[in-house]
Amino acid sequence: MQEFYVKSNRKFQMIDITAKVQEIVKKTGVEEGICCVYTPHATAAITVNENADPNVCEDFLDALAKLIPEGIWRHDRIDNNGAAHIKAALIGPSEAIPVRDGRLLLGTWQAVMLVELDGPRERKVIVEVR
Ligand code: ZN
Repeated sequence: MQEFYVKSNRKFQMIDITAKVQEIVKKTGVEEGICCVYTPHATAAITVNENADPNVCEDFLDALAKLIPEGIWRHDRIDNNGAAHIKAALIGPSEAIPVRDGRLLLGTWQAVMLVELDGPRERKVIVEVR
C-alpha cells in the first residue's frame, strides 16, 4: 500500500492525480489487476473524469454548488461545512481502475481527480494495486 499527499489551494478544486497514481502502479510491477485510489477524508472525494478541457472540472464544481447549496444544513452549526460532506458522500471516497500492461486502463479523456470540497487543505491519497 502506498500513499501520498496533495495540497489544495482553493475551497473547491479538482486536482489531477493521474500521473502520481500511474507512477505508483508502475513501481508495484503489477501488469494486470486493479488499482484502488482512496482518500480518507469526509469532505474530499475521488472521481474519474475529463481534464483535457479544464472547463469540465469547473462545470462539475458549479453543478455541485447548484445541486447542494451552502449554509442550510444542520451540520453547519458544528463546523459550517455541511454541503462539503454531502458532496463528498455523493461522489464517493474511491475509484477502482483496471490495470493492463502495467498501465491504468483510462480512456483518452479520463483522468483520476481528487475533488477538494472544503479547502484549502492537505489531503492524503491511498493507492493499493493488486
Ligand atoms: Zn464537518
